[in-house]
Amino acid sequence: MLADYHMHCSPYSPDARDSMEEMARGALRRGMTHICVTNHMENCTQSPEFPDQFPPFEDWEALASEHQAVRERFRGRLDVRLGAEVGAPHYLPEEGARIYARPELDFVIGSVHNLRHARDFYYLSYPEDFENFRPAVEQYLDEYILMSRSGLCDVLGHIGYMQKYMARQGKGFDMMTFEERLRALFASCVDRGVGIEVNTAALSDKLGDFLPQPEVVRLYRECGGEIITVGSDSHRAQDAGQGVKEGYELLRSLGFEYVCLYKGHKPEFVRI
Ligand SMILES: [Zn+2]
Ligand SMILES: [Zn+2]
Repeated sequence: MLADYHMHCSPYSPDARDSMEEMARGALRRGMTHICVTNHMENCTQSPEFPDQFPPFEDWEALASEHQAVRERFRGRLDVRLGAEVGAPHYLPEEGARIYARPELDFVIGSVHNLRHARDFYYLSYPEDFENFRPAVEQYLDEYILMSRSGLCDVLGHIGYMQKYMARQGKGFDMMTFEERLRALFASCVDRGVGIEVNTAALSDKLGDFLPQPEVVRLYRECGGEIITVGSDSHRAQDAGQGVKEGYELLRSLGFEYVCLYKGHKPEFVRI
């Protein structure tokens, strides 16, 4: 069992290159048995505050029929489910709820890509002195706490997202310096039945590590967290499934015995 629960496809994710079928083929080549296609839905970050965001997603009919076709084509070889990566659903809760309730979706990742009144972390240039950036990380984690309480996502996506882009600028920090806030976040996750994902996309980036970093995943477990998914966050077929095996090795080394698949927003625990 190898499940890649975070990937994008063209044309639904503007930054993805390959079609859903090509992504499925790529995942199969890498030995995946399950995937969940999770395209960007930035419907809740549409305002002049967020000038960089992708347009709101509305193409449900095309997405659903393409998913059905791909699911049938791979039946018996690869379990293909449909989810979404929703940007900060709690910024616009009515819209977040509308997406979460869509019958087409089995699974929703909640990801904060931008703070309120700020650009996507992808576009920032990071200060030399981390102290100048510390308040932004505090605010970021506070947004994850709010998101975990919102009921608008099943798992929290790539906690520590900015670390990937800081590394590209030769900067970084240890997320464990925010241990107190992380404990509050994970207590909220456990309380609300919200999981986290281990995102493997930055393993092959300058950062060269999982997001969240392994110590944070360990802390999640220490706080009683059990719901976890692993995702490549791939945007090209050649990257589908990348890092999932390594993610399972990390989880086993931290004492996790299960990962989750999702059906109708309900986690199904599968032994790893
Ligand atoms: Zn993301
Ligand atoms: Zn993504």
